[in-house]
Amino acid sequence: MNKKYDVIVIGGGLAGLTAALYLAKSGKRVAVLDKGTSFGGRASTKDVSGSMYNLGPHAFYKKGKAVKSLEALGIRMNGGSPSLKGVVFSHDEAFTLPSDVQSVVSTGLLNWKEKKEFAYLMWKIAKINPKNYENHTLKQWVEQEISSERIQQVVYMFCRLACYTNAPEIVNAGVTLRQLQLSLGGALYVNRGWQSVIDQLTEKSANLGVDLVKQCKVEEIKITNTNKSVLYYEEGELRELDAESIVATVPPKELLRLVKGIEESQLGGQLQTCIPVRATCLDVTLKHLPNAKQHFSLDLDNAYYYSNHSKGAKLTYHPNHHVIHVMKYLTPQEKSIPEHLLATFLGKNQPNWREYLVTKRFMPNVIVSHRIHEPGKKKYLASALSEFPGLILAGEWVSDDWMLAEAAIHSAEEAVAILNGKESASIGS
Ligand SMILES: Cc1cc2nc3c(=O)[nH]c(=O)nc-3n(C[C@H](O)[C@H](O)[C@H](O)COP(=O)(O)OP(=O)(O)OC[C@H]3O[C@@H](n4cnc5c(N)ncnc54)[C@H](O)[C@@H]3O)c2cc1C
Repeated sequence: MNKKYDVIVIGGGLAGLTAALYLAKSGKRVAVLDKGTSFGGRASTKDVSGSMYNLGPHAFYKKGKAVKSLEALGIRMNGGSPSLKGVVFSHDEAFTLPSDVQSVVSTGLLNWKEKKEFAYLMWKIAKINPKNYENHTLKQWVEQEISSERIQQVVYMFCRLACYTNAPEIVNAGVTLRQLQLSLGGALYVNRGWQSVIDQLTEKSANLGVDLVKQCKVEEIKITNTNKSVLYYEEGELRELDAESIVATVPPKELLRLVKGIEESQLGGQLQTCIPVRATCLDVTLKHLPNAKQHFSLDLDNAYYYSNHSKGAKLTYHPNHHVIHVMKYLTPQEKSIPEHLLATFLGKNQPNWREYLVTKRFMPNVIVSHRIHEPGKKKYLASALSEFPGLILAGEWVSDDWMLAEAAIHSAEEAVAILNGKESASIGS
């Protein structure tokens, strides 16, 4: 790493690697630096005793930009779609999950009046323009649109499923509805986990000459009028690497650490207010399903999620093993919940599951997103561009319009558009 790069990308997660591949395709000299021992960030997958565990449950939206853009980059997205035919638990009773017309009609969760109101609402949500609600919280929108308390609860449950955010009183209604609309097009579980996407991105980037450097923790980003560079340690010595531009895909807190004086800027002030989205996750592999038909469920009252990801994708070396993800969508006030609560919820879906346990992993507190989208736009990218020219932000938390991997890919594309001189109208506005 002794040449001058056109672009240094900090962070080799989904956003950083996608940006790097686009940039390499357009002929730029690019380096990607990641502090981890492998690439992927939150999209990495661990082989736990022969089971491919994503970092908790991960699904792409089939109709989303992420799938479209990755496929256009030549990434194969093999896998399958989970059926949303499932169960919803409320106060220990199990009901049919109202996920399509048939299940809305048959579920005992709603009475006839509620079924009619819910069916109409789902139709309306599919048609709605989310932009109109970007200055509302989800709670405001729900209370304005829905009279039945039971339907309000059901809508919150599906919004959690689509967005992972469990904070209706804070989260932006427009962004949530946009993500919810996308989820209506179905989800995609990826064979071998999201690492297969990451591995293809790194391979393609390397083939185009991108320098991919692991275990390289950036300690400082320097932006002056004449120069842009990053500082990192190599064999105990602090080194400086120059570039024309820097794409930072690191978390907001890390950005505050890396750019000297950023706290005093408008961007710095915004970064300090980011509230993360967190989850508690229990990942298990079972060699047999006691309840062979139960593949998907949600809990209405406790914000729990259960899904057999092996129903959609190949995630184990053993053909008959099942990788199941159980999760609690944490509120901003919750730091974690104990493992036994998720174990009990798993038991409601798969009684006596411990008898068939192959392996498991418990993660009490995982950051799903570095910020809850609040009403209004933050325009982090534009703030960085005006206050620190040459510093381009990307990463899931940067996008004002999207969440999760959709946001990661959108942000990567916006960063690339700027670097290739095709700045989109929305960025500058
Ligand atoms: C439990 C869970 C479930 C999820 N489920 C879904 C889902 O179903 N659908 C969906 O779309 N999304 C889901 N997501 C979100 C998705 O994983 C992320 O949106 C996406 O992976 C974020 O990519 P990124 O590149 O923006 O960030 P990251 O993956 O966090 O990448 C940032 C990278 O920066 C590196 N880095 C940080 N600081 C430094 C430094 N100083 N120097 C060098 N490198 C540094 C890190 O090592 C990391 O690799 C889920 C996330 C979690 C945790």
